[in-house]
Amino acid sequence: MQYLPIFTDLTGKAVLLVGGGHVALRKARALLDAGAVLTVVSHQFETDFQHWATLGKARLLPGDFQPEHIAGHWLVIAATDDDVVNAAVHQAATARQVWVNTVDDQDKCEFIFPSIINRAPIQIAISSGGAAPVLVRRLREQLETLLPQHLGPLATLVGKFRKQVQQKLDNFAARRQFYEQVFSSKVVSLLQSGQPQAAEDTLEQMLDGHQPLRGEVFVVGAGPGDPELLTLKALQLMQQADVVVYDYLVSEPIMALVRRDAELICVGKKAGAHSVAQEETNELLVRLALEGKKVCRLKGGDPFIFGRGAEEIEVLLPHQIPFQVVPGITAAAGCAAYAGIPLTHRDYAQAVQFVTGHCQKDGKEPDWHSLSRPNQTLVIYMGLMKSAHIQAQLLAAGRAADTPVAILENGTRPEQRVFTGTLGQLAELIDTQQVQSPALLVIGEVVALQSKLAWYGAQAPRAQLTPLHG
Ligand code: SAH
Repeated sequence: MQYLPIFTDLTGKAVLLVGGGHVALRKARALLDAGAVLTVVSHQFETDFQHWATLGKARLLPGDFQPEHIAGHWLVIAATDDDVVNAAVHQAATARQVWVNTVDDQDKCEFIFPSIINRAPIQIAISSGGAAPVLVRRLREQLETLLPQHLGPLATLVGKFRKQVQQKLDNFAARRQFYEQVFSSKVVSLLQSGQPQAAEDTLEQMLDGHQPLRGEVFVVGAGPGDPELLTLKALQLMQQADVVVYDYLVSEPIMALVRRDAELICVGKKAGAHSVAQEETNELLVRLALEGKKVCRLKGGDPFIFGRGAEEIEVLLPHQIPFQVVPGITAAAGCAAYAGIPLTHRDYAQAVQFVTGHCQKDGKEPDWHSLSRPNQTLVIYMGLMKSAHIQAQLLAAGRAADTPVAILENGTRPEQRVFTGTLGQLAELIDTQQVQSPALLVIGEVVALQSKLAWYGAQAPRAQLTPLHG
């Protein structure tokens, strides 16, 4: 190991910065953030330095660097654009055994600045020792998206209770167990949902020993299938869950992202008789939560769009089981985008309606006249089985037979298929192409744009050499 990572406490400590340009400025900001008191030696100073000087955060020494400047400083940074000066600073500092960093010259660095991910008070420092800075940047970006924003507040909250925990729980194992409990309790989700006071109260109650182990339910939208369309929050909750209750719409690549040791329960729901299955699912969620488990109810698309998400939450209410709802990209938005169909367009559609192809509970028909208006887009979920009926009703209500339609099968997934035709051909098209579920029907003038805007999968143009417009 060439470098030993250490975190230094610079609060109130003197640091010497040689250079007053913008490279020096960048370093100065980081050092001031860490509470250092700066001495800056340079012929010229950026205006920020003058400002810091008036605030007493920096002392400016105009003129040449002198080796005597090193005295009394904990760290030295050489940040001039003159290699000779930088080398002199490096030499003077090492001769006095003071840690020195020469900006952009690794050979003259006794210490280096890592790349930082800040979730204060939690900090993650990454370095490749100068070998692969671009790789470090990518790693940092990946970690940034993985680490939830509430990590900082969580660490701060726990830190606030540290002394109390130490007094109350006198051995290490007990304290460790307590913290483990806190980190897998609703304290986390309360912070996540912006309720710091409730989180603190819960932690206090847990410490008092009055808080019985309580489960919770996350109703999470998984989007239409492409795992990269998951929200960060969905991913975080999928990783926290003890149990994941999912249905057939959730794609395999998404299931591969749930916590490895989570219990998986499939409540496979295909179109058809699902009123009993729904009640069983509701009961299952309640039972698991009352056992103290964190339950992720993972649903295709968005939980509140033809997802029965509300029904699953309503059964939790009498038991006072805490819950969260995470929106997902609904099939209409996701599949249309991946098929190259804008659901609205100034020239073609001023409105869009999402409807289900299933009848209402009482068997009542939808308002076909409102669904048949021109210049609006109709997206039909679960419409395959009823396509002949839908086609006949829309035509009877006055929608033109040559209105463009699209059938989007397995949208956003590698096996996506898109078929287009006219309303007059809808049912026949589904039949001859043997369209399989899940599929969406899109009816409206905007479908005419599909041949131009398709970009994903088999229909993407091989090479987009000519721009679409002009
Ligand atoms: N809550 C979900 C919809 C559930 S209803 C959402 O917001 O998307 C199930 C219907 O959604 C399916 O019958 C189909 O019409 C549609 N659907 C879901 N995922 C789909 C996909 N990847 N491709 C095409 N249609 C899809």
